[in-house]
Amino acid sequence: MNDASVITGQLTRLREKLEQKELELGQLSEQSELERTRSIQFITRLMQACRGHDRELDNRLAKLRQRFEENQPIHLLANELLVVEKLLQNIDITLEESLRAGRQQLKEGGRTLGAIRLLPEKLRREAKELQQDTEGQTLSELQKRVAHLMELYQQAVRNLLLNKEIPQAAANMAEETAKNECRTLDPQMHIRICDELQRLITELDFTGPVGEQLSEIRRNLLTGVEAADLPALCLELVELIIEGARQERRESHLFLASLNDSLSSVHLQFSESMESSLALHEQGLSNSRHLHRHFEDIHYQLSTASTLEDLKGSIQQNMTLIQTLLQERQCFQERERELLDEMMAMESRLNLLKDETAEYKKRMAQQKHKLLLDSLTQVYNRAALDERLDLEFKRWQRYQSPLGLAIVDIDFFKSINDRFGHLAGDKALKVIARAMSRALRETDFIARYGGEEFVVLLPGIDADSFLAPLEKIRAVVKSIPFRFKDDKVEITVSMGATLFKDGDKSSDAFERADRALYEAKNNGRDRIIYRS
Ligand code: GH3
Ligand code: MG
Ligand code: MG
Repeated sequence: MNDASVITGQLTRLREKLEQKELELGQLSEQSELERTRSIQFITRLMQACRGHDRELDNRLAKLRQRFEENQPIHLLANELLVVEKLLQNIDITLEESLRAGRQQLKEGGRTLGAIRLLPEKLRREAKELQQDTEGQTLSELQKRVAHLMELYQQAVRNLLLNKEIPQAAANMAEETAKNECRTLDPQMHIRICDELQRLITELDFTGPVGEQLSEIRRNLLTGVEAADLPALCLELVELIIEGARQERRESHLFLASLNDSLSSVHLQFSESMESSLALHEQGLSNSRHLHRHFEDIHYQLSTASTLEDLKGSIQQNMTLIQTLLQERQCFQERERELLDEMMAMESRLNLLKDETAEYKKRMAQQKHKLLLDSLTQVYNRAALDERLDLEFKRWQRYQSPLGLAIVDIDFFKSINDRFGHLAGDKALKVIARAMSRALRETDFIARYGGEEFVVLLPGIDADSFLAPLEKIRAVVKSIPFRFKDDKVEITVSMGATLFKDGDKSSDAFERADRALYEAKNNGRDRIIYRS
């Protein structure tokens, strides 16, 4: 083979290869055109799917589509694609969050629906099912469930309307709403209300079932009452107080009625006896007159009779009449004795009534005293404090003799309740109150002011010796050997103290003592801080 034929052969193969490559190139550019079109379609769909989620993403996608349409090389779009990818990831996170919130709302919605009391069982069950297995739900599944929940709500409303139970249902819903609102009650406020209520109960002194129910409520208040249950409990409390007051009034009324009955019957008997006695007296007088007349007649006959026969006849006649009159007189005397006995019986009945009335008066006085006593600790209560403070304040204003005031608060008392129960707490309160009361002078005054707070008034004490009795109280309480569940426990008190000074109103001294107490607590407790 010569060179020319070799070269021709090579050229032919080269042309064939070139044609082959041209063909492949043509196919490639067709394919790339197809991919570009597909990419544009994809971006268009993506734009539709994401529209409205993020304005920047919408703009970027629109720009990207335009670039593809302009057939820009892919490597120039790399940055743009990266930004779009980031924005898409953000959308994913937001979507996940709103899905979570949606699931939560769905649960809440189901729970609220299920809590409607008059709901038919079937609806209640479905509402419950809606709350289950919400994790991992996709958006469309969630949408379906929300639509289902809406249907259930519609059925529930229809059902309530059909049952004509709207007032009751509305009341239930209102109660539910109120409960929800109560759940948001400030916890501090809730604790204060419970404390104050249980303390007020200790000021009441009702016996019998009312007293027992009140003690039960107090126990509940001390061990913890849900905010949602507080309104109902207050209502019950008011009802019990009214019932207790009615009961006392009924008892007083019954006693007064029986006293009145007894007095009326004694009065009637007395009037009858008086009438009998008067009549008897009249009859006695007339009997005496008659007797007198007969004796005079005998006397006259004795001096004027001419014959013994005449005298005998007239004397005999007179004697018969005198005998009758004497018998009558004897009857009168017997009747008189009876009347005297009756009078004596009446007197002892009157004495009995007098004793009963005195006893009642004593009870009334005790009752009045009790109204001023705290039934738990047996020291004075807040009403008594108001009364006494008013009196001492006026005395202080008039005579300018010193007047001291201290607020005593037991330290860490809550922990006594928490560790040993509120009954142990109650016992400790009683013991502490008694100890403090005994440590004071006759003329001093102590009242339970709050749950575990007391107020001491020290009249006529000078500034130098003011702190001594308070120090005594502090030491006495600290030395009480408390023992709960075999634990030896030391209980201490903190005090804020002050003396009334010129221009003070009662509330000024109170506020000063309260601030001092606050300082005593902050400075380590178990101490007295005096503020002038
Ligand atoms: P601090 O030293 O700051 O005064 O602490 P504390 O725990 O004493 O004060 P806090 O005010 O936090 O709690 C007072 C506690 O006293 C809460 C309350 O339940 C309890 N308490 C109030 N009244 C009574 C009561 O009559 N009986 C019983 N057992 N506990 C009461
Ligand atoms: Mg306190
Ligand atoms: Mg305290």
